[in-house]
Amino acid sequence: MNVFDQWRNAAVAKPLAESIRSIAGERPIRIMEVCGGHTAAIYRFALQRMLPGTIQFLHGPGCPVCVTGTDFIDRAIAIARAEKTTVASFGDLIRVPGSTLSLAEARAAGSSVEVFYSAMDALEWAVHHPDRTVVFLAIGFETTACTIAAALSEAVRRQVKNFRILSAMKTMPGALHALLSDSRANVDALILPGHVCSVIGSQPFEFIAHELRIPCVVSGFEPLDILESVRMLSCQLVEHRCEVEIQYRRAVKPSGNVAAQQIMEQMFEPVDMTWRGLGSIPASGLGVRREYSAWDAASLAGKTAPSKEPPGCRCGDVLRGSIRPEECSLFRKACTPDRPRGACMVSSEGACAAVYQFAGAEDEH
Ligand code: SF4
Repeated sequence: MNVFDQWRNAAVAKPLAESIRSIAGERPIRIMEVCGGHTAAIYRFALQRMLPGTIQFLHGPGCPVCVTGTDFIDRAIAIARAEKTTVASFGDLIRVPGSTLSLAEARAAGSSVEVFYSAMDALEWAVHHPDRTVVFLAIGFETTACTIAAALSEAVRRQVKNFRILSAMKTMPGALHALLSDSRANVDALILPGHVCSVIGSQPFEFIAHELRIPCVVSGFEPLDILESVRMLSCQLVEHRCEVEIQYRRAVKPSGNVAAQQIMEQMFEPVDMTWRGLGSIPASGLGVRREYSAWDAASLAGKTAPSKEPPGCRCGDVLRGSIRPEECSLFRKACTPDRPRGACMVSSEGACAAVYQFAGAEDEH
């Protein structure tokens, strides 16, 4: 038996969905998820089809590639064009369109861009290429940031001076505060990001329940995890409770992973950060601490021209949960996973890519 089977058991899913139907009744419920893993699972397992039509999923800013701004891609390309410099990137990021080119197109035009699975791999590559400056494109949320912090700490310990970090790392609580405090936000309940919470815990999200009065559940990523989380949220709403509950107890504690938090704090400090669709949010990003500025690539890009979004692309609206991917006029026409016009069509965790890939799955389950 596969370890995941117990979380994908259709014989359990059906009564669970029935239980949600009976708890929620006819009440309309808009549930936002803010993790690309949840978005992909919702479509892959056709969970919307199992629920009453009155319960609707909204996809928030939870895909790290999607929320990385066009300006960051432009700066990375400017750095990659410099002599004896290599830009080191996660794979998906190189396909995100910049103002004029993607990193993949810049590489085809002669710039040095290498793909790595981790910051630690990029660090080792830098050690073996001492004649080049290696700039690692640090994107992602707390889940990834702690691993990048570990690589930076190692670079400092070994004094690898040709390894640098260009940071667009983001922290989730500040972004959710900005998004959900907006009077246009129309969210009844929130599925909190399980991976992020495994690092920082559920406590940093308490303000959503207590100040903003929105019920929250930290969810795992299997179909039964998500259905159980929807059931817990429905109960909170019906009982007029606003709490942060943890469904994903096998991975998440309220206080999170203290060692991971410590290494992030040791290497990084809060900075203002630009999010695609949300703009600049104070202290919602992580930058390299001033004492490690020798490893910070922020100054290498110089001044780049103001960035431009792809014409017609509505990724910002998708990331705010204002529209569904199918409502973008480019969806499935000018914009496909093979030829993405916007960031949300690049990664499998992007809402547009998930809808594109799994829209037919509803009929197969
Ligand atoms: Fe952007 Fe493409 Fe999604 Fe439209 S379909 S919002 S262009 S990623």
